[in-house]
Amino acid sequence: MSLAATAWRAVPGHAPVRPAPTPSPVPATPAQGLHADTAALLQVDGVSLEYRTPERVVRATHRVSFDVHQAERFVLLGPSGCGKSTLLKAVAGFIPPVEGAIRLDGRTVTAPGPDRIVVFQEFDQLPPWKTVKQNVMFPLLASRTLGRKEAAERALHYLDKVGLAQFADVHPHQLSGGMKQRVAIARALAMQPRVLLMDEPFAALDALTRRRMQEELLALWDEVRFTLLFVTHSIEEALVVGSRIALLSPHPGRMRAEINSHAYGLESLGGDDFQATAQRIHRLLFEHEEGVVQ
Ligand code: ADP
Ligand code: MG
Repeated sequence: MSLAATAWRAVPGHAPVRPAPTPSPVPATPAQGLHADTAALLQVDGVSLEYRTPERVVRATHRVSFDVHQAERFVLLGPSGCGKSTLLKAVAGFIPPVEGAIRLDGRTVTAPGPDRIVVFQEFDQLPPWKTVKQNVMFPLLASRTLGRKEAAERALHYLDKVGLAQFADVHPHQLSGGMKQRVAIARALAMQPRVLLMDEPFAALDALTRRRMQEELLALWDEVRFTLLFVTHSIEEALVVGSRIALLSPHPGRMRAEINSHAYGLESLGGDDFQATAQRIHRLLFEHEEGVVQ
């Protein structure tokens, strides 16, 4: 694959003060062109997010905009503290924007809903007193999406997809970290959300398990073709998992660039193109820290 296959798009109004390092980004936008006539599934439009404490206001993101289309694997990439988790929570409906709007299927997001399910990093997201199957069934029952029998069938279907059908009746403490994350993914997919939200889901796993989970997630996506909004601070993970990547500047997060990364996968790891692109992303993320327009 040639480097030209990677599309770069500087975000208008949020370009670094200093010019981008050479070779400069290719201004083509095939990722956008692909979707020119279809409305985005998820629209994040000029979204600023803040935390208000009695002492002060913390601005987590500043006027962030991006579109996610059906069956995309869209990655939010940026350094720790740039507002990735906050953005994901806003898309999930837990935090209202102070500026801008978030729309799913054209409707403004105002509250959490079963059409957006989050998988977190922490291994303790599964209630320990429920079995694996009960954990996967729980949101289906609580949201009255399905009756008990259908919920059990669907839970087993998705547990099978993540390779855990034979662990359906054990409790979470009997599982490894990677297996717990597989259960959390099965539980999320069982809800058949419009968009699956993942916040650094593999960050607490050892390197080999993390790699295997990335591989499994991509295989699962190949089969189910869900729409994914995935948060990471790992450039490598973003390139492997994502079909498109939004780069966010350090705190408060602003859009710095969008990158078409669909050509990269696990097989590209270590290749020259992959390394060169990873290095360019690194420079885009970190080289202009003092030069960002405030
Ligand atoms: P990331 O996920 O990219 O590491 P976060 O979205 O967690 O970043 O945080 C963005 C910014 O908002 C950080 O400066 C963080 O300190 C601040 N922040 C996050 N959560 C809270 C909170 N509950 N109260 C106040 N500030 C917060
Ligand atoms: Mg975070």
